[in-house]
Amino acid sequence: RPRVLSGIQPTADSFHFGNYLGALRQWVDLQRDHQPFFFIADLHAITVEQDPKVLRERSLRAAAQLLAMGIDPARSSIFIQSQVPAHAQLGWVLQCLTGFGEARRMTQFKDKSAKQGEGAASVGLFTYPVLQAADILLYRPHYVPVGEDQRQHLELTRDLAQRFNSRYKKTFRLPEPYILKATAKIADLQEPTRKMSKSASSAAGIIDMLDDPKVSAKKVRSAVTDSGSEIRFDTEEKPGVSNLLTIHSALTGTAIGDLEQEYAGRGYGDLKKDLAEIVVDFVTPFRERTLELLDDQAHLTSVLQQGAEAAGAVAEATLRDVYQRVGFVAAA
Ligand code: ATP
Ligand code: MG
Repeated sequence: RPRVLSGIQPTADSFHFGNYLGALRQWVDLQRDHQPFFFIADLHAITVEQDPKVLRERSLRAAAQLLAMGIDPARSSIFIQSQVPAHAQLGWVLQCLTGFGEARRMTQFKDKSAKQGEGAASVGLFTYPVLQAADILLYRPHYVPVGEDQRQHLELTRDLAQRFNSRYKKTFRLPEPYILKATAKIADLQEPTRKMSKSASSAAGIIDMLDDPKVSAKKVRSAVTDSGSEIRFDTEEKPGVSNLLTIHSALTGTAIGDLEQEYAGRGYGDLKKDLAEIVVDFVTPFRERTLELLDDQAHLTSVLQQGAEAAGAVAEATLRDVYQRVGFVAAA
């Protein structure tokens, strides 16, 4: 079975619909006929300051959400990144293979560092994509299911893999991004030209999977829509409405064209009201299941430990090859 790998940061109390539709739903689907490794990226989370207690809680909440969504530990290795030291170890080797200018071109760093001023951003935030390359390459995956915002990081990953392979010896597989076009960029409800983001969106712009369903419904009903009144999919002219249609279509399985027909002659309010109900029906059981899982922390931590053991075995084997090829002396 082809391997897949992906990760998500524990940088909020809840995942949002961008995470779910852009990436996590594909994780669940790919389990059927792939060999998956999925991790909670706590090493990445500390590229910006985190409260230790909150970070720990959020990592466990992240795990509970993944299980509630349908990640099955019998099929997938699910683990916490910091529990597999090979990530940081390969990260260092790859940093030494990355050009400074090459790292500087990453647009996510430009966006994320702009807020605090580049000088105040951590070096970790700068080298984040290189650690991400290590996360991926350790498992030699065929596919990496992510949202559109990760495409550039995936290209860097492939470049680094190729560079290592040609400088030393073929070690890494060149992974393909697995990005579903329809849901690759779910927009912020209040600023529909920007992506919904855990750390950058305002509370009103983000639909959290674990929010009180009533709150989510209200956010959908208050989403920014566009001038005019026609319900039509057009991301240039009507980014707000198009985003609502995208979410509707993804949750109901109705083609966008069919939705356009269904709403012909009706107003934005109708679309928002219907979508609010669809969202409520979706999040209500998800939230209950997550809270149940969170009640049994012993079970959660044991699933994560098993995941870390399985992942660690694969990762350490790759790291041993890398260390040997780079010229490090093996421990006796
Ligand atoms: P942060 O703001 O802390 O970076 P995030 O919301 O971007 O958080 P990540 O943990 O960085 O979430 O990303 C997890 C996965 O979700 C990645 O595969 C990413 O591409 C995907 N993703 C994030 N936001 C969206 C979005 N708005 N639409 C589609 N996919 C998304
Ligand atoms: Mg992100």
